[in-house]
Amino acid sequence: MKNHLILKKTPFLFSTYFSSSIGSIVKYIQPLASSMCIQRIDSGVPYDSNIYLVTGDRNMLVDTGSGKGHDRVVAGIRSVLGDARLDMIVLTHCHYDHVGGLGMLMEEFGCPAYAGQYDAPYVRMAERRHILSDVFGGVVSPVEISDLSDGDVIDLGSRSFRVIWTPGHTEGGICLYDEVAGALISGDTLFDNGVGRTDFPGGSMKDLRRSIESLSNIDIRELYPGHGNICENYGPAMMAGIKTLVGM
Ligand SMILES: [Zn+2]
Repeated sequence: MKNHLILKKTPFLFSTYFSSSIGSIVKYIQPLASSMCIQRIDSGVPYDSNIYLVTGDRNMLVDTGSGKGHDRVVAGIRSVLGDARLDMIVLTHCHYDHVGGLGMLMEEFGCPAYAGQYDAPYVRMAERRHILSDVFGGVVSPVEISDLSDGDVIDLGSRSFRVIWTPGHTEGGICLYDEVAGALISGDTLFDNGVGRTDFPGGSMKDLRRSIESLSNIDIRELYPGHGNICENYGPAMMAGIKTLVGM
């Protein structure tokens, strides 16, 4: 079945979309005023990732936490969405503290899930070494999810997020960028005041530096990292500090 929410980067699909008169694509080309909101859902589990619920014409959850706080996460999502549906779950990368709750949430909300194409296979295979489930003392089962590639656009109707492949913390880590708001959901690639570690399987400081370089070329005004504080007035000076930190 064709997926209406992901606009693949391939020229063929783009030309298909541009030649059609689908309303949401017009909005992608000429963005409308924001009705989007990014809220953090608290799982109550100290080591869990930040879990973001992005609401708009369509609703997206970014990362799930470990699943240890499942009931609380579900209640938090339902309190924001009310009767609206959760349309999709996107994972910034494959680590247990971000994906452990995925299977239960997909079942609860009946929605599809996506991850970067180089991390998604680990989630599909429940590959413990890369997921770090043993490190976190957790258990994972295979979950059927789809791939996102660099340049794909996630169409939430009122807003769109571009997928930016940012390897370094993991091989297949991605950031989601809304260029209208200058909002970056950065996973464990970039934090308020630092970067993710590169010493886990698939990590690479060389790749991370390259990823930071590409992020430094976009206008980030709001940062929504995978852990720690949200920064609503991010700016070039902070990115300059990060570049110094990683030896660039
Ligand atoms: Zn991580």
